[in-house]
Amino acid sequence: MPPRTRKPAQPSAAGQTPKSPKPEPTPLSKLLSLPEIEDIRGALLRWYRHGHRDMPWRKLGDPYAIWVSEIMLQQTRVDTVRAYFQRFMQRFPTIAALAAAPADAVLASWSGLGYYARARNLQAAAADIVAQYGGEFPRDPQAVRALPGIGPYTAGAILSIAFGQQAALLDGNVIRVLARLRALSESPDSAEGKRLYWALSAALVPPPAAAAADADQSGAPGDLRRNDPGDFNQALMELGATVCLPQRPICLICPLRLDCLAHKRGDVESFPRKKAARPAPVVNVVTLVLRCAEQVLLLKRPAAGLWGGLWEPATLPMQPEEAAEAALLRLGRERLGLELGLWPAQALAPFVHVLSHREMHFVPLLIDWPDATLPAGLRLAGYDDAQLVDLRLPQALGLSAWVMTLLRRVAAVPSKESERHQTSPTP
Ligand code: SF4
Repeated sequence: MPPRTRKPAQPSAAGQTPKSPKPEPTPLSKLLSLPEIEDIRGALLRWYRHGHRDMPWRKLGDPYAIWVSEIMLQQTRVDTVRAYFQRFMQRFPTIAALAAAPADAVLASWSGLGYYARARNLQAAAADIVAQYGGEFPRDPQAVRALPGIGPYTAGAILSIAFGQQAALLDGNVIRVLARLRALSESPDSAEGKRLYWALSAALVPPPAAAAADADQSGAPGDLRRNDPGDFNQALMELGATVCLPQRPICLICPLRLDCLAHKRGDVESFPRKKAARPAPVVNVVTLVLRCAEQVLLLKRPAAGLWGGLWEPATLPMQPEEAAEAALLRLGRERLGLELGLWPAQALAPFVHVLSHREMHFVPLLIDWPDATLPAGLRLAGYDDAQLVDLRLPQALGLSAWVMTLLRRVAAVPSKESERHQTSPTP
């Protein structure tokens, strides 16, 4: 890469030295020449077409399937997504079916994947597509980007993979490949870095096959006839996921190693440049599992916000230095309108659930409730609904991963009722 040049600071007319100018952003033309672009496209497409991983959504060529899979794949491994994707598509086979489904059914199909706002946005966008486009996924980039929950990455994936449009995309895998390929010193988290990475991705994605075939008649290299934006974008993501790994990338088998500046420098793992990570804040949360025989009280969170629309045992953030018992009494009064001090509570093992922006430290307590009905005087605050749910069959409701884990644990704790039966003398 040619060295960057910068003019030395000149004294101002008043004789004062001006403030240091901001570093010039790296111009794209200095990062990639046209022959390099052609090399990279050709090498990556040949590698991808030679044998990529088998993924069910790739066989369908259907924008709805690609959209659902791309939303599921954000922050989730391909192996985990496979089963979720198959079930989701069986349950909601069309955009119209998704739009018409009860919100609880959609969240239940998403249970365990996390990031539940994505499921809610998916359904809201499906409703928009039905209302505005007769249930057919739009092809216009502006229209796609205007749908709820569809950001530049997802729009680029759908437009290129489903419709063969020359649309760029950028995810963690692509960022890593591009950063190493051109040894970028800009952090992808900075505004300048974001612009640069997007520009690089857009410069690399090839034109649609038909346009490339026309170009071929005017003398373009033969490989371009096979170029396809969707394959190229998938190839970039696949390379990042399987070869250009965060640690110990397998450069020996990489189709881009001849063009890769980080590899030439022998310094691959220091790219992409990272900002210093701040530790995630910790939130302590008291959690009440109110159990009656095989049933537990679950409450529905409001639609907006964290875990919106999902069901959970009652929770309340604890105050600094607050003891679990005191937090439990406060939870009873503030969330349920109940005085819980009369009932013995059993402490369960605390556990941690890590979110992208905070760590939730749960302090669960179990109370065996004597009645088979909802507690009299129950007054919900911070929740939209309540019901007693069979511990063995909670799958019909949307549950986050920590709730499923907690309910499994509770199912293994003998209830006071069953203990009484076991210890009572035989008549
Ligand atoms: S040569 Fe190595 S560092 Fe460069 S893109 Fe390939 S796997 Fe990544």
